[in-house]
Amino acid sequence: MIYKKYHGICQICGTEISYEEMTIDHIIPLDAGGKNELANYQCTCRVCNSMKGTMMLEDFYMHITEVFWYLTEKKCGKEFTEKLYRLIQNL
Ligand SMILES: [Zn+2]
Repeated sequence: MIYKKYHGICQICGTEISYEEMTIDHIIPLDAGGKNELANYQCTCRVCNSMKGTMMLEDFYMHITEVFWYLTEKKCGKEFTEKLYRLIQNL
């Protein structure tokens, strides 16, 4: 039901996944008061679900954004990272 509801699309990264690859994520984590009910389930790929863990989606996006900037600066340097950041801010 959940796979069909979300057309086999991971609700975090947007990747189309097979039924076998699907994991079920609690939209509102149980730790944060979410319930074990259909309305609180979403279809996610294994990587996204394991990375999201018990975070709320907004916190997860914030976390991966921080990881992205950290790795970009580490790999490409501060000057490039600041330039990219300014470009994105102006979109
Ligand atoms: Zn995913």
